Amino acid sequence: MRIAGFVKTALSEWEGKNASMILLPGCNFRCPYCNRCLADCDASMDHAEAVAYIKSHKDFVNAVVVSGGEPTVHPDLYALLKDLKALKIKIKIDTNGSMPDILDDIVGAMLVDKVCINVMAPLDGASYSRAAGVEVDVDAVKRSIDVVSKSGLAYEFRTTVVPGIVGSEAMNSISKSLQGSGSLILQQFNPSAAADPEMRKAAPYPAQALVRMAESSKKYVRHVRIRGV
Ligand code: SF4
Repeated sequence: MRIAGFVKTALSEWEGKNASMILLPGCNFRCPYCNRCLADCDASMDHAEAVAYIKSHKDFVNAVVVSGGEPTVHPDLYALLKDLKALKIKIKIDTNGSMPDILDDIVGAMLVDKVCINVMAPLDGASYSRAAGVEVDVDAVKRSIDVVSKSGLAYEFRTTVVPGIVGSEAMNSISKSLQGSGSLILQQFNPSAAADPEMRKAAPYPAQALVRMAESSKKYVRHVRIRGV
């Protein structure tokens, strides 16, 4: 399988793990704040190179994060995960949650140990499609959330707090939808490489605003973290 990139050491991608990161190209969303460097890039490397590196560094690397782009749009994802599983290493997948059937298959086949779903916006309205830049079947995202919540696997949710898309009210609504979940990450928005030129002009929320949103989210989600501030 062709991959877009490989990060040998990505220590902040999985709390408590020395993880490598495999990045897959392509995405079915067009989030205006995405830097597109992976969503639109060419796949320049064979996954076998990444697998070989991880295999030869298992004394240090004890996990791998499969991210993108959007991993679940790739038919070869199963083959990649099977090759990684054969290394007897912990695997996390990042997804936008748009492909619940594929996620269900992967989880059911025990090909991953942890799932992170990016929840872009409140799950109750049209703002989701605006956040994703394409028409989104929000029920599919809800089904993905249901799949991982009932899977027995470790899982977390992540929301990029983008001004004009996710404010304190929206963050509260997202957190409420995830009520009872174990873990939520509030990701700071980075305007510098946003695909939409208008987004590049937007100022990220001050750190204190994210802290207040995180405090509010704790009413619903047990473990809330802020990243990127
Ligand atoms: S889901 Fe959005 S942010 Fe993630 S890779 Fe796709 S377009 Fe970019």
